[in-house]
Amino acid sequence: MQLLLFGAPGVGKGTQAKLLSSKFNIPHISTGDILRQAVKDQTELGKKAHEIMSRGELVPDEIMIGIIKYRLNKSDCQKGFILDGFPRTENQAIELDRLMAELNLGQLKLINIFADEEEIVKRLNKRRACKNCGSIFSLSEIQGKETCPKCNAKNSFYLRDDDKEEVIRKRLEVFRNTTESVLNYYRKQGKVISVNGLGSVQEVNNEILKALNN
Ligand code: AMP
Repeated sequence: MQLLLFGAPGVGKGTQAKLLSSKFNIPHISTGDILRQAVKDQTELGKKAHEIMSRGELVPDEIMIGIIKYRLNKSDCQKGFILDGFPRTENQAIELDRLMAELNLGQLKLINIFADEEEIVKRLNKRRACKNCGSIFSLSEIQGKETCPKCNAKNSFYLRDDDKEEVIRKRLEVFRNTTESVLNYYRKQGKVISVNGLGSVQEVNNEILKALNN
C-alpha cells in the first residue's frame, strides 16, 4: 500500500499516518519530522532548513526531492509506505511519480483530510511537543504531568516555533496557495479520497479505513 496523507498543517495527518503505519506495518515517512531531526542534529540540511521552517515557508523543492529519493530507496519501502507532508508542490508531485516509476514502487493513493482553518488554529495552539522524543500531545493529554508519557523525559513539553499562532497562519496561507495545484494533479489521475478531519482520532481513522476498503 502506497499512501499519501494530504491536508493542512494541524489537520491530524501525522497522527493518522502513525496509526495506519502500525496497522499495515509499513514505514511512516514525514518530511517535517526528517527536517526537525536534522535541525536538532545541526546537520548541513538542518542549518539550511531551520530559518525557513521557523518562518512557516517551504523548503526548496530540490532539497525535499533529494530527501525523498534517499528515503524511498531504502528496502523497507518496497512493501509500501505512508508519506506525510510530501509532496507539497506540483513539481514535487511530478518528481515523486517519476521516482516511483523508476523504483517500481506501485500506485499511490492520496487521502485528503480536510477541516475548517479556524478549528485548526485552535487545535495547534493547544498542541505541545516533547523536546526529547518529538511526540505530540494536546494540552488536555498532558495536564498536570511532568514527564512525557512516551519517553519519560522530565519537563520536556514545549510549543513548537512553527505552532505559534502567527506561524500557523503563515503555514495555512502557504498551504492554501499550493494545495489546489497538488490536489488537481492527483485528481486528474483519479487518486484522491477525501475525508473529514474534524472528528475524533478514531472516527477519522475509521473513515479512512472505510474509504480504502471501497
Ligand atoms: P510539517 O511537520 O509537515 O508541517 O512540516 C514542517 C515544516 O517543514 C513545513 O512548514 C516546511 O517548512 C517544511 N517542510 C516539510 N515538508 C516539506 C515539503 N514537502 N516541501 C517543503 N517544505 C517542507
